[in-house]
Amino acid sequence: MDKTIIEPQRTVRVKRETDVLVVGGGPAGIMAACAAARKGLKVLLIESRGYLGGNLTIGLPILGFLGRKGNQVIKGLPQKFIDRLRARGAACEHKPCRLHVSLTIIDPEAVKTVALEMLEAAGVDILMYVFCADVIKEGDAVKGVIIESKEGREAILAKTVIDCTGDGDVAFRAGVECRKGDADGGMQPPTLMFSMKGVDVQALRDAIVNHSDEYDMDVMPPEQFRDGKFITVGFRNRILKARAAGYSIPVARTILITGIADDEIWVNMTRVNGTDSTVPDSYTAGEIQALKQIPDISRYLKDFIPGFGNAWIDRVAPFMGIRESRVIVGKYVLTAEDILSCRHFDDAVGVASYPVDIHHSTGDDCTMHWCEDCYDLPFRMLVPEKVCNLLVAGRCSSMTHEAMASARVMSTCMALGEAAGRAAGISVLDNVPVSETDVRKLRRELLSTGAYLRSGNE
Ligand SMILES: Cc1cc2nc3c(=O)[nH]c(=O)nc-3n(C[C@H](O)[C@H](O)[C@H](O)COP(=O)(O)OP(=O)(O)OC[C@H]3O[C@@H](n4cnc5c(N)ncnc54)[C@H](O)[C@@H]3O)c2cc1C
Repeated sequence: MDKTIIEPQRTVRVKRETDVLVVGGGPAGIMAACAAARKGLKVLLIESRGYLGGNLTIGLPILGFLGRKGNQVIKGLPQKFIDRLRARGAACEHKPCRLHVSLTIIDPEAVKTVALEMLEAAGVDILMYVFCADVIKEGDAVKGVIIESKEGREAILAKTVIDCTGDGDVAFRAGVECRKGDADGGMQPPTLMFSMKGVDVQALRDAIVNHSDEYDMDVMPPEQFRDGKFITVGFRNRILKARAAGYSIPVARTILITGIADDEIWVNMTRVNGTDSTVPDSYTAGEIQALKQIPDISRYLKDFIPGFGNAWIDRVAPFMGIRESRVIVGKYVLTAEDILSCRHFDDAVGVASYPVDIHHSTGDDCTMHWCEDCYDLPFRMLVPEKVCNLLVAGRCSSMTHEAMASARVMSTCMALGEAAGRAAGISVLDNVPVSETDVRKLRRELLSTGAYLRSGNE
């Protein structure tokens, strides 16, 4: 048994009292806090890092704003966020893609400023550099959280809490049933992103368009690379050649994402199987291993991929991105069957279309399955089974391992965050527990504020 000590009981200062508390300032949390804000309500967003954005800041494109039929399925506040980025030249158009359905390239630095601007405009109170370490509960009801910071341990009391931590930290502490990974606990591996500059992107584009036999792409036709921003997923034969020549490459596919700058490419190719972000020893070991993978990957790109001859490493993302960890078991658990059958739900609070995209927990590859059109996101996937006054939005919402491989993308997390925030705002004003939010009212508010729901307009 582990050696233990008993911590002395202590009195904890109540730092803030608020109506709605959002924990975690990533794509889901930013939207949740903005959506909850309304006249007469106090909304507080807390974040452990010194900036907002979560995975929006690590060099990823936002996937899935468009559906398989080309129509836009994520609108509302997420689109307003993109509009603000675009106004400062920090986001491109939503570009259709055969493999990713759609991609929206964003500037990871501008995200931080735009998130602050949006939250300030909505009147949200922001507190950074505090880590949510525990919850305050009365019976089954969450009454607030315990935070840890340079000031020590303090309490924040709230009528409703929204867990947008990605890892479901609040829900886990509150005793909500949580699951991790597939039947064997295998989770999608994380990646430490990095960017290269000085890339001749036109040479890369030309190689794919004119020599597709040599420069293979998964599913995507070469014409897709003729214009505009793009993501490569392929060059499998180049990786085999590089490995035969002694390069250590942890993935089967070369994933490269054009940046906002013309000579910039973000590289999504490190991979550390078996990492668990809820166990610091594991996350630390994974982060160190990923950092050590970068030199060989960049050498591979320079030696085997057209356009990289004069490129250099420009930035390494501020942290290794986590694809999968805890998800809650909620009132409804979204499944791959729901996604692939384009299922409708009466309590739909969002719509998504991204494929079931599983980076295998072992080995070096990935499997993808697409739905024909798009699927609904039910309100019940935000609501924990037993604990009340708590919603869980983002990649830790209630879904199976396979379903989260689709709904984890940032457009969907933003839509789930918006729905959770609006539900919290409505329920506090109606003086009912958030799990009992009037869903018809929620859907009406979502529609009237610009969100997309397939069977709305009631
Ligand atoms: C390598 C990689 C590639 C991906 N590729 C894409 C892609 O190309 N396009 C796409 O759309 N999606 C992609 N995804 C998926 C997507 O990035 C995530 O699923 C999504 O960002 C999850 O959003 P979230 O708001 O739930 O969580 P996060 O983005 O993880 O945000 C959580 C926030 O909560 C904060 N936090 C966590 N715990 C606490 C705590 N206890 N107290 C206070 N604050 C806390 C964190 O600091 C963070 O800011 C990728 C993910 C990874 C890892």
